[in-house]
Amino acid sequence: MRILVTGCAGFIGFHMCDRLLRDGHEVVGLDNVSTGQRPNVVDLSKNPRFQFVEHDLTQPLALDGSFERVFNFACPASPVDFDPRRLDILAVCSRGVWNLLDFCKRSGARLLHTSTSEVYGDPKVHPQREDYWGNVNPIGPRSCYDEGKRFAEALITAYRAMHGVETRMVRIFNTYGPRMRRDDGRALPNFISQALTNQPITVHGDGSQTRSFCYISDQIEGLTRLAESDCTDPVNIGNPVEVTILQVAREIVQLANSRSEIHLVPRPQDDPTVRQPDISRARKVLGWSPVVERTDGFCRTIEWFRGG
Ligand code: UDP
Repeated sequence: MRILVTGCAGFIGFHMCDRLLRDGHEVVGLDNVSTGQRPNVVDLSKNPRFQFVEHDLTQPLALDGSFERVFNFACPASPVDFDPRRLDILAVCSRGVWNLLDFCKRSGARLLHTSTSEVYGDPKVHPQREDYWGNVNPIGPRSCYDEGKRFAEALITAYRAMHGVETRMVRIFNTYGPRMRRDDGRALPNFISQALTNQPITVHGDGSQTRSFCYISDQIEGLTRLAESDCTDPVNIGNPVEVTILQVAREIVQLANSRSEIHLVPRPQDDPTVRQPDISRARKVLGWSPVVERTDGFCRTIEWFRGG
């Protein structure tokens, strides 16, 4: 197939392109390289079936030839990117997704859009099932991302109803692995970089907040299956094994053989207290569940951070 991947310079976008190329597809990668990394594009470009287009998705999209699939990863996604890029995030989640939908309507391509666990906000239902509507502060520091992604889901739902474009939607939960940006600001890149340089590990609050971490290869397998499934409802893709952030910090220190100490620092406003995907739908409609154990995934990621 000929497939367009937006956000190809980013962490998950890179791995999606890599998988599609290994599966024998022709891939056009699009990115404005605002939060993505140019070395990812350089590595993908070594494959003759990959073509890079530098483009801002909020501008109208004109690409030659036909496409059968569009995978949309274009959006800054780390909490540290939210503050300086509020309007960029809202623009790409609204105008950007609208441009992609128009493009899919013209080309007949099926869109796989990546939404997020952030649509559940600071959840009052735990674990989170797809039929939970969430608890989001519309004017808080994370609202550009949370509400942007919620708007994109509403837009896709309406556009599909009005124009019959084929769409799939995934809600991605915390995902990690090689090629995460070192300065990404998220817990794992921070903890690993700090551990490898024996610097203090900055745990926010008392570290009792929880997350559930999915290794990148499991995430990509779920996305690949969803794109080819008949399921038009949103599907959670993530690892349901929940852990406190303090426990994650301790595990990273131990696995990296680090002398770092854990420092408790102030916790950001509206930081979700708990997060765990209910993946019953993914199990049922995709026959998917994660297979990589946390210790294994953490070790592989630490090795990559050591080497890179
Ligand atoms: N966190 C932390 N120290 C850091 C970065 C993040 O304790 O240096 C916490 C953060 O407050 C949150 C959790 O780790 O409770 C996961 O944060 P991350 O930025 O990785 O992703 P999020 O799940 O919030 O999108």
